[in-house]
Amino acid sequence: MKTLLLGGTREARELAHIASGEQGFDIVSSLAGRVRDPLLPVGEVRVGGFGGVEGLRDWLVANGIDIVVDATHPFAGTISANAAAAAADLGLPLVHLRRPGWSPQDGDKWTRVPDLAAAAKTVGAVGERVFLTIGRQGVGAFAGLTELWFLIRAIDPPEGGLPPRHELLLARGPFTVEDESRLLADRHIDVLVTKDSGGDQTDAKLAAARAAGLPVVMIDRPSLPEGALVMENVAQVWDWLRSAAE
Ligand code: NAP
Repeated sequence: MKTLLLGGTREARELAHIASGEQGFDIVSSLAGRVRDPLLPVGEVRVGGFGGVEGLRDWLVANGIDIVVDATHPFAGTISANAAAAAADLGLPLVHLRRPGWSPQDGDKWTRVPDLAAAAKTVGAVGERVFLTIGRQGVGAFAGLTELWFLIRAIDPPEGGLPPRHELLLARGPFTVEDESRLLADRHIDVLVTKDSGGDQTDAKLAAARAAGLPVVMIDRPSLPEGALVMENVAQVWDWLRSAAE
C-alpha cells in the first residue's frame, strides 16, 4: 500500500519512523521545502509544492498512491484543503492528523482572535513590547505597527515586511520554561502573540507568560474542510493505516 504522508511536523516524522519498520507500507513523505535545514523523516522524501490541487492530483496518479495522510502543521491550511480536494476527486482515503489545540489554564489571560490580521489589530490594545512567535510566515501582518516593539522569533528569517522596531531571534525549539521566562524578562515583554499550534514542543512560552502574568493573543487555527476525517495522534493514524492495509 503506497501512502503519501504530507509532513513538516514531528508527528509526520514519527509516523514515517513507525511505518519504516513494518512490511507492506510504502511511505513517501512530502515537505514544502520552506525551511533551509529541515529535520528529515526516515524513508523516501520528496520536497517542494505540487502545483495546486491539479498538480497534486496528477502526482498522486503518476506515483500510484493508494492513501493520503495529511500530517502537516495545523496552520498549513492550503495544503490540507488541496489534499482534501485531490483525494476526493480520485476517491482516495484521506486522514488529517491534527494535534489538539491548547486550552487556557488558571491564571492565563488569553484573547482569542481568528487570524493574523485580527491579531495585528488587537495587540496594540494589550501591550507595547511584543513577543511574536508565529513562525516566519505572516510577520508582514504586523509591519505597519510602528508604535510597538517586537521580539520576533522564527527558525529561518521571516518573509516580507517587518515592523520597524524589532529584534530578530533565529532559534528552533523546544525551549524550556526557564529559557522563555528569562527571555520575557530580559526584553521587558508585556504581551505574547502566538498561533494555537498545540503540542508540547512550543508550549513553554505559555507557561512563562502565565507565570509572569502577561496577556497572550492566541490566533485560532484555520478550519479543515467539512466532513474531514480527523485524528489527534500518531497512534490513531497508524491503527487506521494498518486497518486500511488489511
Ligand atoms: P500552506 O500555506 O498550507 O501551503 C502553501 C503551499 O505550500 C501549498 O499550496 C503547497 O504548494 C506547498 N506545501 C505545503 N505543505 C507541503 C508539503 N508538506 N508538501 C508539499 N508541498 C507543500 O503551508 P505552510 O503553512 O506554508 O506550511 C508549509 C510546510 O511547513 C508544511 O509542510 C507544514 O507542515 C510545515 N509547517 C508549517 C507551519 C505553519 O505555522 N504554517 C509550522 C511548522 C511547520 P502547491 O500548491 O504548489 O502544492
